[in-house]
Amino acid sequence: MRPALIVHGGAGSPPTEEHAERQAAVDRSLEAGWVRIGEGALEAVVATVRALEDEPALNAGIGACFNRDGFIELDAGVMEGTGLRAGAVGAVRDVRHPVELARALLEDGRHVLLVADGASAYARDHGVEMADPTLFETPRQRRNLERLLVEADTVGAVARDVEGHLAVAVSTGGVTGKLPGRLGDSPVPGAGFYAQDGAGAICGTGLGEAFLRLVLSHLAVVELMHGMAPDEVARGAIEHLEAKTGASGGVIVVGAEGEPAFAFNTPFMPVAMRVG
Ligand code: ASP
Repeated sequence: MRPALIVHGGAGSPPTEEHAERQAAVDRSLEAGWVRIGEGALEAVVATVRALEDEPALNAGIGACFNRDGFIELDAGVMEGTGLRAGAVGAVRDVRHPVELARALLEDGRHVLLVADGASAYARDHGVEMADPTLFETPRQRRNLERLLVEADTVGAVARDVEGHLAVAVSTGGVTGKLPGRLGDSPVPGAGFYAQDGAGAICGTGLGEAFLRLVLSHLAVVELMHGMAPDEVARGAIEHLEAKTGASGGVIVVGAEGEPAFAFNTPFMPVAMRVG
């Protein structure tokens, strides 16, 4: 099977002068993940999203957006398509790499989603790296909060390895000015991400409430399972998002075979991909 990896840095409308910087961040993260593709799809997507969480130009980890009260609450999720194992975390403030914590939950297997203090306690107890919450703060996101610019630029990666196994990882600060405790689609399997070997895997970005209401990622994987091509599914998912909710966003998709695909209805979504 030809391996594939596709990465996005969020669907949105950032100022034009930020486009090149955001695209470069996505390109760097693709390389960080691609060198791990030989270790499997899950390793590749986690390594990619870990790198994205270190890019201050993107809304995940360092560079994540602020909530209404001026705090950063981070969400992340991972899923692998062989055993349909998933792990996700929501509203964590002091975990250095939320995607690593999501991965730890996937491996643990007892629970799919942990939030807030419980998630942080799990991280501390299991040796997941912690961080001072101020580490994630950036002047760019402070300005966005002051102007209430609705920044919503989740990051994500979807991969297929040589054995045909599929995996997806996602990480986000959510949306600027969100209410404390708000979870979007990104930590919810089926809404913001999904993976099923033999069918496909997908990661979404955009208004999380809309993805949640449509359970859009699972819907897309069902279409892949029924034989639709990844580019048709990507386009169809965004058309459905717009038609049913009026929301904007984007998706990246990898099928059981062939080239990755993506679609978005926002002015900008940085994407990078590799096929082996
Ligand atoms: N989907 C994310 C959320 O609603 C935001 C984004 O993808 O831009 O939390």
